[in-house]
Amino acid sequence: MKISIIGNNLTALVLAKVLLKKKIQVDLFYEENTTKNLKSVRTIGITQSNVLFLNKYFKGIEKIGHKIDKISISTERQKNDLLNFENNSNFKFAVFKYENIYKFVKSSLKKEKNFKSFKTKLDKKLVQKKYLLSYDLVIDINLRNTLSKKFFSRKIKKDYFSRAYVTIINHKQIKNNIAKQIFSSSGPLAFLPISNNKTSLVYSIFDNNSSKINEEKVINLIKNYNTKYKITSFEKFESFKLQFSLLRNYFKQNVLAFGDQVHTIHPLAGQGFNMTLRDIKYFLKLIDEKVKYGLSLDSSILKDFEKNIKYKNVIFANSIDFIHEFFKFEKKLPKGLSEKLFIYFNKNSAFKKYISILADRGF
Ligand SMILES: Cc1cc2nc3c(=O)[nH]c(=O)nc-3n(C[C@H](O)[C@H](O)[C@H](O)COP(=O)(O)OP(=O)(O)OC[C@H]3O[C@@H](n4cnc5c(N)ncnc54)[C@H](O)[C@@H]3O)c2cc1C
Repeated sequence: MKISIIGNNLTALVLAKVLLKKKIQVDLFYEENTTKNLKSVRTIGITQSNVLFLNKYFKGIEKIGHKIDKISISTERQKNDLLNFENNSNFKFAVFKYENIYKFVKSSLKKEKNFKSFKTKLDKKLVQKKYLLSYDLVIDINLRNTLSKKFFSRKIKKDYFSRAYVTIINHKQIKNNIAKQIFSSSGPLAFLPISNNKTSLVYSIFDNNSSKINEEKVINLIKNYNTKYKITSFEKFESFKLQFSLLRNYFKQNVLAFGDQVHTIHPLAGQGFNMTLRDIKYFLKLIDEKVKYGLSLDSSILKDFEKNIKYKNVIFANSIDFIHEFFKFEKKLPKGLSEKLFIYFNKNSAFKKYISILADRGF
């Protein structure tokens, strides 16, 4: 069995590895090196069950992430923890520097005999019919080439009129195992510990005119909300326009669309890559079933994948969107009422357990 993957981001490499473990031959095609990407300050929070899944394929990957035991949530008006999610026996999620996890995954592919990667002009290659026919399946993660523009153009989109500002703060050493999310009046601000003296910040700031806010203003806002860290310096800032988008069809012929471009969500819950990992798990399950019954891999597997995963992704992505809209609306509620609401939810252990399971494993 032979699968081609288009793209060389983290999703592409993880997918390549898990398919190789199923004894599938993988050819990976890409256009650009990721060196520029790796100099980024970006981090990824990965939930406990997904870290354990990755650890099965990438032994020791668990150790390069910083484990978080508690998540606390507060708002502009109510500075104390309104909601907190704890795990006494195990970690809730782990935060990875993108560069570290990328390099770890990439180096594990070096020893794989059934893996080949080709740097090539994608458009020239992909539009050839014989290319598609030479593979059982093609998985497109790049989704910016002529082929994907033809196959996967229909999307549901929403503009958040927000930009995420991402940086890392260096600070005095502390026990740093609690992630904090503040729903500030400018937008959600997340503090995600990556070591005892470094914390990643993701600040999604509302802005209607789509131009960037200057760095100094963002730093002042952060300093205003930071009550915990003795900050010694800020690393560089990166910023992204935030959008919600869901692809309407996941496959065409023997080509499957995959990864962030299939479902782009607001980063407030740190679930984008986690959704992709859940997609990978389900795809593997379908492959196992085919192999078990001696069936070949063809577009029927893509049909099953779309049928069983798309609706879950739609519900999950919309739940994240609902949280975003809820906290925008919460600011308009009378303070007493909003306080009562949060006290009720925070005391409700069944509710908290359900939310924790949902965030960890999805639907
Ligand atoms: C600000 C922000 C924070 C996020 N935090 C989490 C998280 O904690 N947990 C999680 O599961 N998913 C998170 N996501 C989604 C996650 O970044 C992507 O799913 C993941 O990076 C895909 O990586 P890739 O290498 O496969 O794809 P790539 O092709 O490298 O990237 C795809 C997307 O990643 C996002 N991205 C690019 N640079 C950064 C950066 N510096 N910081 C964050 N995202 C970037 C962009 O939206 C881009 O379109 C976040 C997204 C954003 C925009």
